[in-house]
Amino acid sequence: ATPTALLVGTGRGAQIGVLIKGPEVLESTRVVDTIVLDKTGTVTTGQMKLVDVITVDGVEVAEVLRFAGAVEDASEHPIGQAIASGAVERLDAQLPAVEGFTSTQGLGVAGLVDGHAVAAGRPAWLRDEWSQPLDPSLAAATDAAEAEGRTAVAVGWDGAARGVLVVSDTVKPTSAQAITELMALGLRPVLLTGDNERAARAVAAEVGIDEVIAEVLPADKVAVVRRLQDEGRTVGFVGDGVNDAAALAAADLGLAMGTGTDVAIEASDLTLVRGDLRTAVDAIRLSRRTLGTIK
Ligand code: ADP
Ligand code: MG
Repeated sequence: ATPTALLVGTGRGAQIGVLIKGPEVLESTRVVDTIVLDKTGTVTTGQMKLVDVITVDGVEVAEVLRFAGAVEDASEHPIGQAIASGAVERLDAQLPAVEGFTSTQGLGVAGLVDGHAVAAGRPAWLRDEWSQPLDPSLAAATDAAEAEGRTAVAVGWDGAARGVLVVSDTVKPTSAQAITELMALGLRPVLLTGDNERAARAVAAEVGIDEVIAEVLPADKVAVVRRLQDEGRTVGFVGDGVNDAAALAAADLGLAMGTGTDVAIEASDLTLVRGDLRTAVDAIRLSRRTLGTIK
């Protein structure tokens, strides 16, 4: 395509809510055949809400909220935000301070609260870190939550998990239509997430995606992109989080949600300004039109 055509395409992009890093990006936009989508914040709103709290015998709901809320308050993850604000609301009190906060990407958070070593995260992570099987009540709560497409976060202190907090997310109203249109353009959608398999499958079913890769640690998302590329696919990756940056950079085309983190936006080739997946479809159509007709 001529430089002028590319510039015109880039300008049109801005009009439809797509920021394009450079004119040459339109070429990879035109040729992608696979679109890997992060779940939380990309296909879903990522505005999670705390919907349920389960405790083991002898532990009060308020204790679970206090400890979980305190460590999660220091987290930037949407799950952490949901738990911290849900705890403040339900307790109607401020949260205690946390010392020595640490975050383990894709697994959970930890810190010292009122002199107790507290951790909150994937139930299996707490179980393995502390080599303590989950109490049957917590295992059952986790199963029930995940079967409904929700995420269960276990919280524990002094060496054992003592509660489960259930958070729920909602699919963006435009996601299903965007997936239908991507497929109509001949692209293959793949849902990729660090979340549990069942929650991932529930979201995938809601938007019409068949292929799901779940429980993938942030560092391994990029390996999934590379594997698809090794299979000969030209891969677009859509994400919003800090944990998506490496995959966005490795993909043939990185698409960031404009509503996402700066790190994701910087690592991407295209930014969907409104965080609406349908504009990804518009961008692909635009590049095909711009480069298809003038070449
Ligand atoms: P996604 O790929 O959907 O954006 P992440 O890789 O960020 O998800 O997180 C994967 C999983 O790790 C979450 O579903 C949750 O179980 C756990 N997790 C991550 N951060 C936290 C946190 N701050 N508190 C509790 N659990 C967390
Ligand atoms: Mg995300």
